[in-house]
Amino acid sequence: MAILTVENLTKNYGNIKALKAVSFSVPKGTVFGILGPNGSGKTTLLGIVMDILKASGGGYKLFDEVPTEHHRQQIGTLLETPNFYHYLSAVENLKIAAAIKGRGADDIDRVLQIVDLAKRKTSKFSTYSLGMKQRLAIGSALLGNPDVLVFDEPTNGLDPVGIAEIRELIKKLAQEGKTVIMASHLLDEVEKVCTHVAILKQGTLITHGDVNEILVNEDVVETAASDLTLLKDALTQMPGNARVIVNEKTVQLFFPSGTADLAAVNQFCFNKGIVLSQLQLKKKSLESKFFELTNTN
Ligand code: ATP
Repeated sequence: MAILTVENLTKNYGNIKALKAVSFSVPKGTVFGILGPNGSGKTTLLGIVMDILKASGGGYKLFDEVPTEHHRQQIGTLLETPNFYHYLSAVENLKIAAAIKGRGADDIDRVLQIVDLAKRKTSKFSTYSLGMKQRLAIGSALLGNPDVLVFDEPTNGLDPVGIAEIRELIKKLAQEGKTVIMASHLLDEVEKVCTHVAILKQGTLITHGDVNEILVNEDVVETAASDLTLLKDALTQMPGNARVIVNEKTVQLFFPSGTADLAAVNQFCFNKGIVLSQLQLKKKSLESKFFELTNTN
């Protein structure tokens, strides 16, 4: 079953095209990252799905059905910093949140346990660290034990310890079988936490699917010869490499990580009558791959 399916989802704010016919689906039980730099449309997409914003075109389904409030009741959300009362305790704040949401009033102790705030549950919110505040916000999303959670940039603004705690918490939720949909601008975060990813760039879906398939490292072999066009034509015919890119002074070949064979490249070119003036293996980082995917050029 798909938890969420977006179909040609489009959103314009006046002239700004925030989402351009985006389509993907979120399988049940996944931790699904919506990854993209600032302004790529992540928050807009989650806002539409949670009925805070109206789409300009296209549509979406929840649990394979036309979405209703009933479906949204089964989704715990953390879309913006919730307005907790500074002078009230965690328990008191969650009681108010449960009343507003209409769910989870008898669930507060369980939720505080999960987000590791049970020991501080009677402390005032104002005495909490940023990380604790964010954990309480996640706790609020967990009220009523929804099977699906939607988090917008859940680690934003936290220090490394706070970030690690939230990431562990998300993994724990996933182990319990929850489906988590989370927006992030951090490749590293998606790589560490998510099982699936959709990458957005300026409102366009660049790619989506299994994290292990999409965010794989690649071997890059950089070559050069006196005639780069000839070299490119030859290398395009070489079996095994994913793609060939011509730069100003070099031709780059991309192989799945660990499979590049420099001697084979050299021999192949030699057999085609091309003498290489450069032959070098460069490991490509995920960062550069992400940059390449989301680069505005
Ligand atoms: P961030 O991580 O910075 O929140 P994002 O990926 O969530 O970015 P959105 O907030 O969805 O991106 O914004 C997508 C685009 O839509 C941006 O160009 C943004 O300036 C624009 N935008 C968002 N909200 C509005 C609005 N209310 N009015 C006009 N433009 C908007």
